[in-house]
Amino acid sequence: MLFDLTDEQQQLVETVRKFVDAEVAPVASDLDHRDEYPFALVERIKELGLFGATIPEQYGGIGLDHTTYALVVEELARGWASMPGLINSHLIMAYMVREFGTEAQKRKWLPLFASGERRGGLALSEADAGSDVQAIRTTARRDGDDYVVNGAKMWITNARYGNTFALLARTDPDADPPHRGMSILLIEKGGPGFEVSRDIRKLGYKGIKTCELVFDDFRVPAENLVGGEEGRGFKYVMSGLETGRINVAARGVGLVRACFEASIRYAQQRRTFGKPIGEHQLIQEKLAEMATKLEAARLLTYSAARAKDRGSRVDLEAGMAKLFATEAAMESALEAMRIHGGAGYSLELPIERYFRDAPLLLIGEGTNEIQKTVIARQLLQRHAL
Ligand SMILES: Cc1cc2nc3c(=O)[nH]c(=O)nc-3n(C[C@H](O)[C@H](O)[C@H](O)COP(=O)(O)OP(=O)(O)OC[C@H]3O[C@@H](n4cnc5c(N)ncnc54)[C@H](O)[C@@H]3O)c2cc1C
Repeated sequence: MLFDLTDEQQQLVETVRKFVDAEVAPVASDLDHRDEYPFALVERIKELGLFGATIPEQYGGIGLDHTTYALVVEELARGWASMPGLINSHLIMAYMVREFGTEAQKRKWLPLFASGERRGGLALSEADAGSDVQAIRTTARRDGDDYVVNGAKMWITNARYGNTFALLARTDPDADPPHRGMSILLIEKGGPGFEVSRDIRKLGYKGIKTCELVFDDFRVPAENLVGGEEGRGFKYVMSGLETGRINVAARGVGLVRACFEASIRYAQQRRTFGKPIGEHQLIQEKLAEMATKLEAARLLTYSAARAKDRGSRVDLEAGMAKLFATEAAMESALEAMRIHGGAGYSLELPIERYFRDAPLLLIGEGTNEIQKTVIARQLLQRHAL
């Protein structure tokens, strides 16, 4: 262990580990191959309190710090990369309410998020705006006590079975620069003018539905404007994504660990030319590199999480952790497949799933190209002459 955990932290991580081994890992490939939403596992996540993992206890959550939450995410991702997807963006929505919402909003929404009764995620991206968040076109125009939303969102995780989302929209379409005219609204399914128009078919990250949303004069009560003030949404999103990057890094760590654990086992079981393949130097090289990357990814991830827990701004650390851990996941998935030979390519083993799940980590919460620009910007600031 990299650092001392309290008994309580240790117990929780142990509970999640057992849950993953007993209930997630055995069904993950079947659910993935059928692209089936894991209803039963969602209920178990509710029971474990994980929809409220980082929500303060006073609002009904279990109040985990970033470090313990990252450990939980690592465990979940080790069993099935889609599992953290059920809670990560949901908890970023909760984070925005917790950090920037009014007291009335915190009291209303956080207990509902914590219990999982209201759950969902982030509706930021659009067909023509992913990395370039400021290019979004969805608008929310004030009309009496409501905002009227028009536009479309793309790639929204949890949209099919979730019910509540943090929507980024332009409340002042003429603002220059555009980010000054953007706000976050909490939107709920049910009213006319909000349609989940389709599920997007994808390579991996199965089971968790990722959808397109269409808004046509959809009315949202003005009291759902997070923080009660227009023009601050972009800032909230950037802050939320900073913590999101630690979570994606932890998913990377979980995936590298899954690859390593499968590979070290197989390397001792599979024999060629009269000996276990783990005795061939070229396989040893792969194991050594994978284990080294696992350790390095862990150190970066938990160091960023601990810095965040100390209250520092961690764009640089979270960016580095996300970049390294997710690239390590992609490389390890490929190497795990090589180590497993033909067996790794079959649907009988989870290696092919790791291979399909890893690329999303390079894209989500800011692509790794964007991470590099964030890292470089921070470096130039910190080392300014
Ligand atoms: C499975 C899945 C789930 C998702 N879930 C959500 C969700 O829940 N909510 C949500 O809002 N979004 C979600 N997204 C969207 C995701 O955040 C975007 O896909 C991501 O930000 C990249 O945007 P893009 O796809 O438009 O790529 P683009 O921004 O078009 O980028 C294309 C390429 O250009 C590169 N690039 C872009 N700008 C620069 C630059 N300045 N410098 C260097 N390179 C650059 C990118 O790195 C990439 O390689 C999800 C996406 C996927 C695939």
